[in-house]
Amino acid sequence: MKVALFSTKQYEQKFFTAINQTYEHELCFLAPRLDLETVNLVQNFQAICVFVNDVLDRAVLTKLASQGTKIIALRCAGYDNVDLQAAQELDLTLVRVPAYSPYAVAEHAIALILTLNRKIHRAYNRVREGNFSLNGLLGFDLHGKTVGIIGTGKIGRITGQILHGFGCEVVAYDPYPNQEFANHFATYLEFEQLLARAEIISLHCPLTKDNYHLIDQKAIAQMKPGVMLINTSRGGLIDTKAIIRGLKSKKIGYLALDVYEQEKNLFFEDLSSEIIQDDLFERLLTFPNVIITGHQAFLTSEALENIATTTLSNLTDLEQNKTCANQIKFSE
Ligand code: NAD
Repeated sequence: MKVALFSTKQYEQKFFTAINQTYEHELCFLAPRLDLETVNLVQNFQAICVFVNDVLDRAVLTKLASQGTKIIALRCAGYDNVDLQAAQELDLTLVRVPAYSPYAVAEHAIALILTLNRKIHRAYNRVREGNFSLNGLLGFDLHGKTVGIIGTGKIGRITGQILHGFGCEVVAYDPYPNQEFANHFATYLEFEQLLARAEIISLHCPLTKDNYHLIDQKAIAQMKPGVMLINTSRGGLIDTKAIIRGLKSKKIGYLALDVYEQEKNLFFEDLSSEIIQDDLFERLLTFPNVIITGHQAFLTSEALENIATTTLSNLTDLEQNKTCANQIKFSE
């Protein structure tokens, strides 16, 4: 099948090219992000392949359909960037990679917790400058702390299990609790109860139209003073303005983000010689108790291999008119 892959980077092309030797699709790697301008790059591609920050709104989908595209293969799990209603009306088939390495994301969340707590980001710079003072580097034992996991799917459960191993008390919120997780690792609470109980809160739910800005001023007000908040899920779950107010008032004691609500204008590109225009993002960077990574939680070799394999296999399934288990159902 002829497939155009938008937003591709060298590190993933390597995996796609190697694994495609088995699948033999005709791959065309494109560096630009898909949007209304770049959609013109693809004429008569039966399938296009996209990532988290590609734009798949009604206008782009309509253009794609008119240019002959029938299949959209998301090489990620979340599909909050797709106008599903428009895709259904245009008779487009959507496939995704529901799980490629939940360990990659869970382990990154743990790395963020440990870095923030033990102030590794500050210690690293100090020692390189010959500053061996420990002032300001005080951390706390994770052992015995209460951690709240919001969203106990694949990634949330692994994060909870690792933290359980640290000796943390794990509490969880999910509209669909997992009995196995409850039996061995966590106590499920209502959302508000979790906010009030947890010393560390980690977000692991998808972004939907119902939970946009789940963490807003009201939610922050219910949290413990000095709470640590970790978001490796989707930027839109957090109201950035509210979070900045929370940091300034010290209600939020620590913040780590791997995702940001306006990330599509920033992440995945080298902007080190540019003037960043996003004042909220720049304000976040000024806090000593905030660390931000640029949507890299998924970035392990195992995950990239799985992403390429599942995406190419999804396309083969559709090409051979087989049922594809990873097809997005419009009622989902
Ligand atoms: P999953 O589908 O296995 O689990 C999601 C869980 O969230 C489900 O149990 C669901 O019931 C629950 N949920 C839905 N709405 C909720 C809400 N409002 N409050 C609490 N829980 C809710 O998904 P997963 O594989 O664990 O991935 C979780 C999220 O992680 C993805 O949706 C994606 O946004 C994000 N993600 C980020 C990266 C990254 O690189 N940073 C990589 C992969 C996934």
